[in-house]
This record gives sequence, C-alpha cells and structure tokens, in this order.
Amino acid sequence: MALIVQKYGGTSVGTPERIANVAQRVAKFKMLGHQVVVVVSAMSGETNRLVALAKEVQPNPDSREMDVLLSTGEQVTIALLSMALMELGLKARSYTGSQVKIVTDNAHTKARILDIEEQNIRADLDAGYVVVVAGFQGVDEKGNITTLGRGGSDTTGVALAAALKADECQIYTDVDGVYTTDPRVVPEARRLKTITFEEMLEMASLGSKVLQIRSVEFAGKYKVKLRVLSSFDDEGEGTLITFEEEDNMEQAIISGIAFNRDEAKITVLGVPDRPGIAYQILGPVGEANIDVDMIIQNVGADGTTDFTFTVHRNEFKKALEVLKGVQSHIGAREISGDDRIAKVSVIGVGMRSHAGIASTMFRTLAEEGINIQMISTSEIKISVVIDEKYMELAVRVLHKAFGLEQGA
Ligand code: ASP
Ligand code: MG
Repeated sequence: MALIVQKYGGTSVGTPERIANVAQRVAKFKMLGHQVVVVVSAMSGETNRLVALAKEVQPNPDSREMDVLLSTGEQVTIALLSMALMELGLKARSYTGSQVKIVTDNAHTKARILDIEEQNIRADLDAGYVVVVAGFQGVDEKGNITTLGRGGSDTTGVALAAALKADECQIYTDVDGVYTTDPRVVPEARRLKTITFEEMLEMASLGSKVLQIRSVEFAGKYKVKLRVLSSFDDEGEGTLITFEEEDNMEQAIISGIAFNRDEAKITVLGVPDRPGIAYQILGPVGEANIDVDMIIQNVGADGTTDFTFTVHRNEFKKALEVLKGVQSHIGAREISGDDRIAKVSVIGVGMRSHAGIASTMFRTLAEEGINIQMISTSEIKISVVIDEKYMELAVRVLHKAFGLEQGA
C-alpha cells in the first residue's frame, strides 16, 4: 500500500464529465489498495473569470478580498469531485485550505506555505476516505484566506505530499509529461522519461509552464518523488523528476531548450567606470521592486563603461522611468531599451562534465546568422538574448544540434 497525492489541473476538471473521469482514475488507485489524497484546481477558466469580475468592480482589487474571491474556484471543484467519488461508491471528504489548516504567511495573492496540519487527513485516510483538498489556498495565522499565486495548486500538491511523506506526488495535466522543448514550436520535441530537479527548476524559471516553479523548489527541498502525467491518457508513465545522485551514466548531456519572450533589455551608456556604479544603477531599480535577470558590464575604455541588464517585460517602462530619473545623478550619457528580445537557453546537468556545449550553441546560432546580444551561464545552463523575431528558429536549430528530436 502506498500513499499517493494526485493533483489535477483546471482542464482535467473542466467539466462534470471530466470530473467523473478523475473520480474513475482515483477509484482505480483505491482499488489497488493505495491511500489517495487529491488536490484540485478550479475548473478551467474559472480563476480568470473571477479575476476579471473583480477588476470590473475595483480596478485595482484589494488583495485580501481577491483571495476570498479566488479561493471559491477550488471550493467548487473539491465538492464536485467528492460527490463524483461517492457516486462510484467510495468514501470521500473535501477540505478547503483553511479546513486542513494549510498555514501560510499573510502575503495575499502570493502567500507561502509555512505549515500543514496533517492529522485530520491522516485520520480520514486510515478510515478509508479519499481526501480531496482545494489547491492554491491556505489561511494565515489570523484566519484570513490566502492564495499561493497563479498555478499554485501544484505547490499545494507537493507540499501535502511532503507533509504526509507520500510515496509519490502525481501532477495530472493536459500534457503527458515534460518535453525537450515546447512541441508547438518544435513538433519533433520528445517527452523526457526523467529530468532532474535542477533542470526542471531551470525549465520552469525559463518559461516552461508545466509546473509552478515554487512547487519544483518545494519538491527538491523535501525530496518529494514527483511525476508529471496526462489526465487524458491512461497508459503513459509521464515524466519523473529525479535527483541527480540516483542517476546513472546514461544521463543525457542536454535535456532541453527553454525560451521566453517575457524579458526586455535596458542599456545605460557612457557611465563613469568607478566603484559603486553598478549599485547606483541597480539600487534604484531594486528599490522600485523590479527584478533584474541578466546583467552585463563592459570593460571600461576612456574612463567610461556601458551597463546592460534585463527585466520582466511588464516592468520595462517602469524600469526605464526609474533610470531616467537618476540619469544625471549617475552621469550616464544615454539610456536605451529594447523590449523585442527573447531569451533562449540550453539546459542540462551533463554540462558539468562535458566541455564544448557553449561553442556548439554559438556556432549553431552563427550558422543561421542569429546575433547574440547577451550571454549568461550557470553550471547547468547557457542562456542567450537574441532578437525576438529569431526565437523560434533558434529553438529549432538548437534542438536539432543537440540531437534532442524523437528517434535521435
Ligand atoms: N486556479 C488557480 C489558477 O488558475 C490555481 C491553479 O490552477 O493552480 O492559477
Ligand atoms: Mg495549473
């Protein structure tokens, strides 16, 4: 007998028929003698509908009330799924986040889980119930309803699996696993049987939307065995997220190509090349709560240097304004920006032990005449910033150059 946490996303519970299908799958695991905890998202489109509704009433919605509103989406699905399970003759019981007591901090709309009281769930499981828990929500120490950020049901699933020391956390979604890259861009993309946590973390933070990034961090930290599967396919084994030390010699060098268009680039030209200049430029940006991703400073010549960095595209205008405000103070000759850029990254833990990945990447891009504007590297990733209009081409040629396609 195993204890399994299954999380179903919005499309998997998008209609009453689909909810009935989920109940069937849960029943199958129950019949095999397992204990099952199910975490569900709101029905597809519901959270967006609620967000839009709120904005019609209050253009900049109060965040506490937003959480009260958004948490209703998941409350609907836990009740419906419990009913569907009962229809199959199973014992089932639903819990909202605050009923479980998924305790979070009080950062409304992006709260973090601090603690989970798992005694009630355990007692129900021992009494033969399927326990159905609302994803994405918790409660702060004062009893206020909180939510965990968009996509947060993944994190609920993983956190519950960690708290219950579950044997496996299965994330059911509308794709059948994690791919070498987005199949919409590269039809030859291949499903990965396994991927390491670190790689998955990079994939998630670089734009792959399969799992909420925080859930991956959580799973890595608490060593939760995590699997991504399709809820529309009964046969597939999905993708297992593994820990590197368990891995064998067959570890691929490169696991995937990630990309995103969410960034914009800002260049500060002709600043004095002296100690403190990076701080003078990025200090005000940080104070405005704008996250900076890649940073490049040129080697100084004739006493001045240039400084380039990227921010989220939504914060591009704000970052430009902040810098224009301090331009004369920092003594910059010019400040310019470009929000038509894209970031493309090659990811793989095998890079640690293989040289030449960067040169293959750069040669491949050069052969297509794609200019690299910025480069950043880590132990398991190389990212480049390029003109947005070459993004798909870059992803395709890199996918091929690293032999990631099906049957390769
Ligand atoms: N319903 C929430 C959302 O759409 C949480 C989730 O689905 O994970 O973001
Ligand atoms: Mg989701």
